[in-house]
Amino acid sequence: MTRKRSAHRARRGVALLVAALALLAAPGAASAQSVVVEHDDVIIEHIPADAARAASALSLYRAGREVVRSRLGRDVPGRPRVLIAPTDASFQAWVQREAQGGIAPSWSAAVAIPSRSVVILRGPALDARTRPTAFAISLTHEIAHLALEAVSLARGEPIPQWLEEGLASWASDQSMDPDERKMLRARARGGALLPLASLEHRFPENPTDASAAYAQTHALCLELERLHGREAIVALLARLERGYTVDGSLQVIAGITLLDLETELESSLVGERSWWLDALLSISVWHIMGLLAVAAVVRYLFKRRRLLREMDAEERAGGA
Ligand SMILES: [Zn+2]
Repeated sequence: MTRKRSAHRARRGVALLVAALALLAAPGAASAQSVVVEHDDVIIEHIPADAARAASALSLYRAGREVVRSRLGRDVPGRPRVLIAPTDASFQAWVQREAQGGIAPSWSAAVAIPSRSVVILRGPALDARTRPTAFAISLTHEIAHLALEAVSLARGEPIPQWLEEGLASWASDQSMDPDERKMLRARARGGALLPLASLEHRFPENPTDASAAYAQTHALCLELERLHGREAIVALLARLERGYTVDGSLQVIAGITLLDLETELESSLVGERSWWLDALLSISVWHIMGLLAVAAVVRYLFKRRRLLREMDAEERAGGA
């Protein structure tokens, strides 16, 4: 696949609106015409009925691009195309067309084809009724891939897949889903974390292992940030761009090897407590004394009520 590099630098200012009608030769949208809207920073394509989705895609794209810039310290090159597929079926068809036979995972809300500077969105996932935060995170993840493509191009080869995915997740989501973290803890305790070497060129196809791979690489980048700050990640990208290896760069930037980082993550996960255990352990003697005091008051009130009832009964018996 050849990368189209736009000669345009993003021009700030009033968006230039070029609404053109073009026929999309895609299965599932065979007769649908698309509206092409050229903004100064992005080109959005959608069917006429999807104008509302296009408006939210534009604001989510701009917000996501800003997040990526602030996290990775680098911008998306040129002016990407963002295509809004109106249905689930057209999403699949458009991904196949743009990625030349590629298949979108059934769970994905957005897919980037960085070499073509294209992002395809699953239209129904953009609707307000669905989970807007999850969608924004997915879109930002894909935008990060566009920014990382420039690093791969500069170094003349792709950066390792585990780092590419880990950084895209790290750039788009600064925390981690508690369920994913829990799953990683279980894997770490069972010695079942995936070796990074197995994720160098591709991720597993099996959905369980694939989601473990995404979670683990995300956690690895969060761990690097926790130990050495965001600056270490920005510096790592700068060195990768100049052709250095990940391992060698980590040694220069943070004084650790890649294996050290993997080991750090594993021991952090193994030593991590779950939230309920933290809550249980944070109960102090004062919490217990407070609970005992409340229990004493409740017991006193019950006793008093029972006593009053007994006195009433006696009075009635005496008067009868
Ligand atoms: Zn990704």
